Amino acid sequence: MDANATPSWHDKAARLQFRNQAFIDGRFVDAASGKRFDCISPRDGKVLTQVAECDAEDVDRAVAAARRTFENGVWRDRHPRARKSVLAKLAQLMEENADELALLETLDMGKPIRDARNVDIPLSVRCVQYYAEAIDKLYDQVGPSGPDAMSLILREPLGVIGVVVPWNFPLMMAVWKIAPALATGNSVVLKPAEQSPLTALFLAELAVQAGLPEGVLNVVPGFGETAGQAIGRHMDVDMLAFTGSTEVGKYFMRYSGESNLKRVSLECGGKSPHIILPDAPDLDRAAREAVGGIFFNQGEVCTAGSRLLVHESIKDEFLERVTHHAARWKPGDPLDPKSTMGAMVDARQHERVLSYIAKGKAEGAALRLGGFAAREETGGFYIEPTLFDRVDNNMTIAREEIFGPVLSTISFSSTEEAFRIANDTIYGLAAAVWTRDISTAMKAARAIRAGSVWINCYDGGDITVPFGGFKQSGFGRDKSLHAMEKYTDLKSVWIDLS
Ligand code: NAP
Ligand code: MG
Repeated sequence: MDANATPSWHDKAARLQFRNQAFIDGRFVDAASGKRFDCISPRDGKVLTQVAECDAEDVDRAVAAARRTFENGVWRDRHPRARKSVLAKLAQLMEENADELALLETLDMGKPIRDARNVDIPLSVRCVQYYAEAIDKLYDQVGPSGPDAMSLILREPLGVIGVVVPWNFPLMMAVWKIAPALATGNSVVLKPAEQSPLTALFLAELAVQAGLPEGVLNVVPGFGETAGQAIGRHMDVDMLAFTGSTEVGKYFMRYSGESNLKRVSLECGGKSPHIILPDAPDLDRAAREAVGGIFFNQGEVCTAGSRLLVHESIKDEFLERVTHHAARWKPGDPLDPKSTMGAMVDARQHERVLSYIAKGKAEGAALRLGGFAAREETGGFYIEPTLFDRVDNNMTIAREEIFGPVLSTISFSSTEEAFRIANDTIYGLAAAVWTRDISTAMKAARAIRAGSVWINCYDGGDITVPFGGFKQSGFGRDKSLHAMEKYTDLKSVWIDLS
């Protein structure tokens, strides 16, 4: 091999070092119990490393470090300009280490390297940059109090923020919360998902390198029922920011009520409708995006357009186009830069998705594409992109979040019926509508109960717009300046001038 050739992702992966201890008070440390758990790569089912298994005692240590740094003001009382430069430096270090972060993400949770490198890491960098830049541009308010008084409406950080996130976009979900929480002056204790702890641990190290005081950002890898629950029930955590399933979101509400009434924000699941009306401006593009909207990231996306609602007059033609575009989505080696789909995150998720496919068939939906496990010889957890036709909105595959590459086609005969079916779900995270008619588009935007409504595209938006759910998709918003509201509280100061 040419010694000057750019090393392949496989070569780089072979040389990768894993940070596998907890990160508490600025240092990598073992769990107090000394326990470790296997960190498995879904690419081949093999153990990458063993990671410290944190429990309540480690959470206590992390919360104590976060509390100390919050109370002594080492971070929140720094000049906004200085905090801005720390977070900007962190974004720069993430960018400089983008290849390594992308590799960690791909190996740890199975997504294609090209998505990790071109989507997850750049968007995470941009998120940290955005909140860095916001720090010294936000003003508090002066109330209209009349001549005899002066009132100040101040935004203050909450204190110690607990962050619990899932495995589908491990770094991005973490920074969507950590960046605005730190930007507003809080200290943080983060528990990454047990399936994907590696990028969060690297991030914490980079943050200290960037100048974040030790103890302001702590990472406690471990399991939900132990470490996650300990954060949720901790009497000294002021706020809990969660992304994950609706089921676990409800636990956090309970933990809060049974402990210190900590504030809770929840970004939970979805069953998002993707509505294709006969006057869609470009049916071929709509089909391409319908496919991308479900097969990207192996369907492990909370906003996945998992219910394809197509007008009956164009359904057959549209499904032809969908099938055509689906051909470019194929499970492959996540480390191959040409792969468009990787592996499901673990054996359990693999099993779960296959059981939904079986249920779809049993309940009478027509399997048009895929439906099977793939690449089983690798030892990894791959599934073919799967398309069902003739799905009824009452079938299990139309009601429950599958979190895998399974698209359910439901037909309708009028726009009103489409909106009714779209809203007939416990979720309300996102929706899309394709139409050339401006009033239909605006009516859809109003009628559909979801945190994001996309017109003539799927999954539009960037860091400048809020993201989050209606109904059982949760409450509280990530991204945009609005995200900073949930990590702060208002304080009123009334000054008598009479
Ligand atoms: P999950 O089971 O809800 O897990 C999310 C996080 O909660 C993980 O860190 C998990 O820890 C922890 N957890 C699990 N049980 C817990 C408990 N009893 N107490 C405290 N913490 C607990 O979800 P997932 O399987 O990781 O991710 C898939 C789900 O996330 C999907 O439903 C998807 O829609 C949702 N999601 C939503 C969004 C959004 O923005 N709305 C984004 C991404 C994903 P361990 O896994 O380590 O045990
Ligand atoms: Mg893993």
